[in-house]
Amino acid sequence: MEQKAEFGMYGLPVDVKYCKKCVISNQRPSSVVEFKNTESSKKRTIGFDNEGVCEACRYAENKKSINWQEREEELHKMLARFRSPDGNYDCIVPGSGGKDSIVAAHVLRYKYNMNPLLVTWAPHLYTIPGRRNFEAWVNAGFDNITYTPNQKVHRLITKLAFENLVHPFQPFIIGQKNVAPKVASLYKIPLVVYGENEAEYGNPIKDNDKATRSTKFFTYEQRLEEIYLGGVNAKKLITDYGLTRADIEPYMPIAPEAAESLKMEVHYLGYYLRWDPQWAYYYSVENTDFYPNDQRTEGSYSKYNSLDDKIDWFHFYTYFIKFGIGRATYDAAQEVRNGHITRDEGVRLVKRFDGEFPKQYFRDNLEYMGVTEQKFYEIIDRARPPHLWKQVNQKWQLRQQVS
Ligand SMILES: [Zn+2]
Repeated sequence: MEQKAEFGMYGLPVDVKYCKKCVISNQRPSSVVEFKNTESSKKRTIGFDNEGVCEACRYAENKKSINWQEREEELHKMLARFRSPDGNYDCIVPGSGGKDSIVAAHVLRYKYNMNPLLVTWAPHLYTIPGRRNFEAWVNAGFDNITYTPNQKVHRLITKLAFENLVHPFQPFIIGQKNVAPKVASLYKIPLVVYGENEAEYGNPIKDNDKATRSTKFFTYEQRLEEIYLGGVNAKKLITDYGLTRADIEPYMPIAPEAAESLKMEVHYLGYYLRWDPQWAYYYSVENTDFYPNDQRTEGSYSKYNSLDDKIDWFHFYTYFIKFGIGRATYDAAQEVRNGHITRDEGVRLVKRFDGEFPKQYFRDNLEYMGVTEQKFYEIIDRARPPHLWKQVNQKWQLRQQVS
């Protein structure tokens, strides 16, 4: 991988900066999944303004001046366009039973009188709290369609994604992103509603100023040669890895015409309602059988974020290796922004927990992907950008940390 003056491995800015208000660094990539990307010379990372404050913090400030009453009226109007008069499904809520999908489904049904159908792309490996919370979600009074991909195929692509991109979660993200519009198309349900907007965490602020997501994010001309899974071209997956076109289908987005003919719309409740992860957590506990893990999550201090899938633990660890941003940073940054902890507390939590090795499901994850322990460390160590990592007495250390 080439090392440029300004941008290093993965196209990250080599000059590492930390937000003055929260604990995030300028290494955080925007989490847009692209089909074409395997390597890009310059990645879009979270923006910092000239006062050294990140986009996510600026958005959190902007949120204070939003007239939420007006936004809720907009929500009423939007939902009125779709609401079924006879109890048929009128919207889809994608998710896995995390707190955000619980809140989204619950408020739509019980506060706004909608009839959501829940759609789930099955986790690779359910955790016990993940499975329990999935059941709490569905048992709160919903129908659910869970799509479980062919595990032989999914394991292979997950392994390739780990080996080629050091991103074992990529096939899940792609599958999950595409399954809801597909079910929408199949059942002729034109409205898909997510809870929180991912933009809260530092995608371009302009993405937060509208309620909808462009259909470009979930439609694509179905040209195999332009689609990559696990860093391998889809055509090559067929010729070199023995997969069939049908094996790849679950990962394919719907065609633009399918979304157009249905007049499909994708909305985020986070635009209409004042969304805050901690609020979402309390709401879930109060209104359903959701409950947090009985222990803190490795790599963080929290007990209720991203618990569904054992691969989450690997995912956050690889993220830490590649970008120097671990689960504690991720959790603390948003809690600082929402005023639950101070920046100093955030810094201490990051120093204490960030990058902790994910022991708990280590064996399960290796076995799932069919990767040996030795191979795992080889891949991990190759993935460390030199501008972030150094070796001291044969031990890897981050060159800098938030302070
Ligand atoms: Zn910030």
